[in-house]
Amino acid sequence: MNKLLFIGLDCATPQLVFDAWRDELPHLDFLMKHGVHGELQSCIPPITVPAWTAMMSSKDPGELGFYGFRNRKSHRYEELYFANASYNNETMLWNYLEKAGKRSVLIGVPQTYPPRQLNGIVVGCFLTPDKSADYTYPAGIKEDLDAIADGDYIIDVKDFRTDNKDWLLDQIYRMTERRFKVVRHYLHSEAWDFFMFVEMGIDRMHHAFWRYQDAGHRLYEPDSPYSNAIRSYYRYVDRQIGNLLDGLEPGTTVVVASDHGAKKMVGAICVNEWLMQKGYLRLNKPLDGPVKLTPDMIDWKKTRAWGEGGYYSRVFFNVKGREPEGVVSAEEYEAFRNRLKEEIESLGDEQGRPIGTRVFKPEDVYRTVRNIAPDLIVYFGDLDWRAAGKVGTGRIHVYENDTGPDDSNHAEKGIFILKTDPSRLTKAGLSEGQRLDGLSLYDVAPTILDCFRLPTPSGMIGKSILNGVSRSADYLAWSIDPSETEKGYSLEDEEKIKKHLEELGYI
Ligand SMILES: [Zn+2]
Repeated sequence: MNKLLFIGLDCATPQLVFDAWRDELPHLDFLMKHGVHGELQSCIPPITVPAWTAMMSSKDPGELGFYGFRNRKSHRYEELYFANASYNNETMLWNYLEKAGKRSVLIGVPQTYPPRQLNGIVVGCFLTPDKSADYTYPAGIKEDLDAIADGDYIIDVKDFRTDNKDWLLDQIYRMTERRFKVVRHYLHSEAWDFFMFVEMGIDRMHHAFWRYQDAGHRLYEPDSPYSNAIRSYYRYVDRQIGNLLDGLEPGTTVVVASDHGAKKMVGAICVNEWLMQKGYLRLNKPLDGPVKLTPDMIDWKKTRAWGEGGYYSRVFFNVKGREPEGVVSAEEYEAFRNRLKEEIESLGDEQGRPIGTRVFKPEDVYRTVRNIAPDLIVYFGDLDWRAAGKVGTGRIHVYENDTGPDDSNHAEKGIFILKTDPSRLTKAGLSEGQRLDGLSLYDVAPTILDCFRLPTPSGMIGKSILNGVSRSADYLAWSIDPSETEKGYSLEDEEKIKKHLEELGYI
């Protein structure tokens, strides 16, 4: 095999691609018929950062040392940072490929901003503060993108939290159209062995338009002009994929994958409001109305735990000797953690009916736990509910849309499709068109290396679905130059990223 094209579709969800709309997506259907496909179990948490990086390194978030977009830098209450590429010290699939003499093109892959040096080119992802930043490698190619895109190259839609759905729809189509133009351009103008791009449009469509197509959604509007918005967009993306496939050299392997799926969102659970009602979190003074919780509002001497909102929740404990004004002693830590886990799991909906919340301890789900992990990771209602960090609502369950789009949440299973040399499939005991069970996001990088007939590095979690090959792994020695790491954002850029991620509902 000489070449591999990886089509990343953030949030593409199996119930739509494999089941409901497969007949309407002829190009994805073609890849499934002539390859293998299956639901792809995401990492914990199933969130864009860290999921794509976990997929492309085959390392879990604990090993990567980041647990979401925003992470704690130290045990001080106010020190948070956004995990861009400079915080990622793991060897990525393309680093291994480079060691094996392969050239890569990466476009829009989450957490590739700021871009690192590579044998190939990189166009950074939506963690780029704005286009004045150096978001490409080599730096000069960013000057070409608008001309190639035939218009302003859109890294990600801005002002996502809008009621002007027509405008938003137009922006998402523009972004996607221009991304595919850039992809087609580099597919044909660059030399490459591995070509990967990630289109964010499906994720943005789900969050903004899910209510119009799902009769089970509390805000469903029958006969809305947007009832087919997501479906039409999937068809549009499928046609764009068709255009890419038409121009490929025969024999090119194609992978299509998403980092997680989607499901309807029921509402939000105000995790801090609940902690306050339980007496675990105390504020300095009463509130008049809903506000975002900030560390200065908290009476730390009387607070045992607090939470962060987002598509899932992270709960942190105020531990004696660890946090500046910690109160939970080391001796009671584990008992307190078990109690809170149980209490959160039994928190029901407004009527007290069970919602199937799942709570994880980091050390139970990761092979190691680097940097500062949450003390508990919470999927409210198994991700039917998002978590809201705000306080002063006076209620635990809220439905209004004031923290970002809330039509859909992330689901744990994404999609995976692999079309490669049929003899490789046969040799692995697989047959064309087969739907596979039990695929994990961690299997993707080993499988791609295997397509290049390269071995799975020993530290990777996953395994090749083609059964792997055994060969000397000498080429795997690799280390990141420490001077390249942890540059983070300037304060100004950090504000831009914070605003963008808040609009999108990630934080
Ligand atoms: Zn995603």
